[in-house]
Amino acid sequence: MIMLTTIADLRTACEQARTEGRTVGLVPTMGFFHEGHRSLMRAARADTDFVVVTLFVNPTQFAPTEDLGAYPRDPAGDAAAAEAEGADVLFAPDTEEMYPEPPLTTVHVADVSEGLCGSARPTHFDGVTTVVAKLFAMVGPCRAYFGRKDAQQLAVVRRMATDLNLPVEVVGCPLVREGDGLAMSSRNAYLTPEEREAATVLSRALAAAADLVRAGEREPAAVEHLIANMVAAEPLVELEYAEVRRAADLTPPTRLEGELLVAVAARVGRARLIDNISLQVSDADVRADLGVRVSPAGRSI
Ligand code: AMP
Repeated sequence: MIMLTTIADLRTACEQARTEGRTVGLVPTMGFFHEGHRSLMRAARADTDFVVVTLFVNPTQFAPTEDLGAYPRDPAGDAAAAEAEGADVLFAPDTEEMYPEPPLTTVHVADVSEGLCGSARPTHFDGVTTVVAKLFAMVGPCRAYFGRKDAQQLAVVRRMATDLNLPVEVVGCPLVREGDGLAMSSRNAYLTPEEREAATVLSRALAAAADLVRAGEREPAAVEHLIANMVAAEPLVELEYAEVRRAADLTPPTRLEGELLVAVAARVGRARLIDNISLQVSDADVRADLGVRVSPAGRSI
């Protein structure tokens, strides 16, 4: 694995790989790697010949009141993890390299970026789409890997790639959970042991929501209320939203049918956490995708 910090070196490395006829896979991240990140690297490694992992805590996707300064970092641990997962390049630029001057250009994906996390974080997705567009332009990947943990981000990036005819396949990868169900997140590092325990209510509430739909419930509001009530019983967790959306375009469904996303966001201590499940609801049956749980050793259970 080579570690690069300049865009010029990154372009040269990717161009050389493409000239050799190798397919390029991109895994954009903000670092502090856990099994969720590592699963994206493994997917890229399995599918493509030249794997570029990027590590950049992108300031433009944080509001001034958010945790940019406190965001957890572990550059040495991240380099070791990316190397162990078989990355060919770890690109870790500084802010000056990515934004030599304040950008006048923003990529904005309307509608899909509004509501859900876009309500509490109105500038967030513009920061994400703009930096991802820049990374696509620098790397020229044929595939780029994103986690379904950030379901709205995945939908927004997919729509950007479609609308702008970007020659990249946006691949969604399974949401990875701790053994007790908590969705893995770099921000889990902010949690005290009590908060960490309380935070499991989010995945428990989503699992209960799936059970309710399996039992025949078809009203979106009933599912949202169930989650809100379960979270309300946990004093350390303050719900921001619990919403059911259509998976394809994130619009609210009038009835629970077809491909759906059930998404939550909550504050737990200093951390803002998100989680979701996917549901496929038909007259015949209900299928729920709750993601994968891993044991502390990193194995699927
Ligand atoms: P981040 O470093 O938080 O910006 O995340 C980088 C990528 O890793 C994004 O595509 C995330 O969706 C993905 N990711 C983060 N946490 C998880 C998780 N628990 N399971 C799957 N993917 C994840």
